[in-house]
Amino acid sequence: MEGTAESYDPLWQSLLPVGRDPSTGGYHRLAYSPAELACREWFITAAVQRDLEVETDRNGNLWAWWTGPWGGASDGAALVIGSHLDSVRDGGAFDGPLGVVSAFAAIDAVRARGRAPRRPVAVAAFAEEEGARFGIACAGSRLATGALDPDRARALRDESGVTLARALTAAGLDPSHLGRDEERLRGIGAFVELHIEQGRGLVDLDAPVGLASGIWPHGRYRFTFSGEANHAGTTLMADRRDPVQAWSRTAIAAATAATTYDARATFGRLDVHPNSTNAVPSRVRAWLDARAGDEQTLQRLLGDVGDAAAEAARQTRTTVDVTPESFSPAVFFDEALHERIAGALETSDGDALPVLPTAAGHDAGVLASAGVPTAMLFVRNPTGVSHSPAEYADRADCLAGVAALTRTIEVLAS
Ligand SMILES: [Zn+2]
Repeated sequence: MEGTAESYDPLWQSLLPVGRDPSTGGYHRLAYSPAELACREWFITAAVQRDLEVETDRNGNLWAWWTGPWGGASDGAALVIGSHLDSVRDGGAFDGPLGVVSAFAAIDAVRARGRAPRRPVAVAAFAEEEGARFGIACAGSRLATGALDPDRARALRDESGVTLARALTAAGLDPSHLGRDEERLRGIGAFVELHIEQGRGLVDLDAPVGLASGIWPHGRYRFTFSGEANHAGTTLMADRRDPVQAWSRTAIAAATAATTYDARATFGRLDVHPNSTNAVPSRVRAWLDARAGDEQTLQRLLGDVGDAAAEAARQTRTTVDVTPESFSPAVFFDEALHERIAGALETSDGDALPVLPTAAGHDAGVLASAGVPTAMLFVRNPTGVSHSPAEYADRADCLAGVAALTRTIEVLAS
């Protein structure tokens, strides 16, 4: 596509060094850290270079408007494209930034063809999508839609005890303005987020770009196993009440159930008490992240893991208590918008873009849950690895993503 590589390459290259750890090749762009603030500067520069009107909203999200500020957008008028710029600790280069870079490059491509938008078009970069610093994923979009309470958000703390309120103030933003952004939400007629695929669906389908059908339901649960602390040398194996034994049996059962249901179950966080090498532990807290293709399957998975935990506790003479911590229902993207984009991206031979679900959360999911018509485009990830320095996409596939986004703008807005 004309103009695509010429815009994409310098945008991508100029962002690439920001927040990169030379020893791992991974990225540390935690929300409102110096590296992430540099990404924000990069966004502003890209917007200004393109004569786009740039603003930071009350929740720290960035917007670059083609055709004037959002205030000019009447209800449902705006087409918004974009993603996020922050990363997890030692994350990949593509998760988030690919969608923002592609959005600017797609606007360039539409302009290069001499097309003007008939509705406002904006590039958005949502704040703290990963939740890697303050613990809540998609905080910027959740605040904007009212899904995250502003008081709770202001009090969130990072590992060094800095509150989100303080981090916002240090970044020159006013934390007292956090909260649902009614008028802005009403102005968005469609949000299209392009994202690197965080799996190998497109590899198996042999396609560079795909369209998302929806986002899997997702829950987080805290399992607390309680037993009895005792001496690691003098306590006979038969006399122990060891909660690690109960948890480990539960973890194996969770993996087995997830495999059976083609779902996902992960115990990625453990807190062992007292956590000493020479003591039988007294308590284990373990956090289960569970996701499945539909809510019924997710409930079945949780039922199996709960039963396995109760049985493991019985066998080890410990107790278990399960507390749900968060639940995100399944997200179904807007059907009409999906059809329009799918139609626009059909090849001349009538080949449709592959459609695939995702098990990862996104700002697009938050906006969809708030009633904004939303769609997602995925770009092939050869290894499927994400949230790691090994995350990768071929340049040719990234350019195919820009071309798809360009066509999307043309169909929806020009
Ligand atoms: Zn992402």
